[in-house]
Amino acid sequence: MPELPEAETIRRSLEKLVIGKTIEQVWYSGLPLRSKKINITPIKNETIVEVKRWGKNIFLVGEKQNLLVNLGMSGKLLWNKKEKHTHVILVFKDGYLSFTDPRRFGYLHITRPYIPKEPPDPLLTKNWDLYNLSSKMVIKNLLLSGKRVIGIGNIYANEALWLAKISPFKKSSLLTKQEADRLKKAIIRVLKEAIKDRGTTLKDFCDCFGVKGTHQNNLYVYNRQGNNCLDCGTKIEKRYLSRRSTFFCPACQL
Ligand SMILES: [Zn+2]
Repeated sequence: MPELPEAETIRRSLEKLVIGKTIEQVWYSGLPLRSKKINITPIKNETIVEVKRWGKNIFLVGEKQNLLVNLGMSGKLLWNKKEKHTHVILVFKDGYLSFTDPRRFGYLHITRPYIPKEPPDPLLTKNWDLYNLSSKMVIKNLLLSGKRVIGIGNIYANEALWLAKISPFKKSSLLTKQEADRLKKAIIRVLKEAIKDRGTTLKDFCDCFGVKGTHQNNLYVYNRQGNNCLDCGTKIEKRYLSRRSTFFCPACQL
């Protein structure tokens, strides 16, 4: 958390706030983010022309350089609001954008004015697939690894596997062509549905205006253990897989 739909929700709110505006001041708390100190001072005086996303990464695209923002586990970008764990503030003429992150797994850094296109983004790349995987990982862990396609975290991996009727414990290399195609379609569908709902707020996810998502009310299996499968009525089970909570229908997802 946040995953691709949450990053996209933030990107859309940022578009309304910073395009055409210049970063006039930069403030940094000096504390390490993802265990490293950052240097984003050179982004000062950059004018933002676009806001882009690749996977879970958000790019404030400037004329000469980009500022990459990765929200990690608990990062937030807030407009005109400072919280206890604010680590970066970008000051614009008419307001400021703060980066707040209690766990400090998120980070910011300056990149050249292009966006790397690998690994594929499930919504922005056309030709990607999950077929012919040589990996020994089970399919759910492969999705989370970001090796074949990026942006999918624990919530949407569970959701997509249920929709595609594939067991999260199935070995990646055993996926048939049909299953791989079904899973790709399911991933695209769950991500688009979540974007429509402006993300999933389990704890404190919100966009730059502080508005929470609503997709937590429309989840198929995530957090629904003990409730009936929406397709067949069997009770949804919860198990741990590599210490991540895994929700599935034992009847539909054989
Ligand atoms: Zn079922």
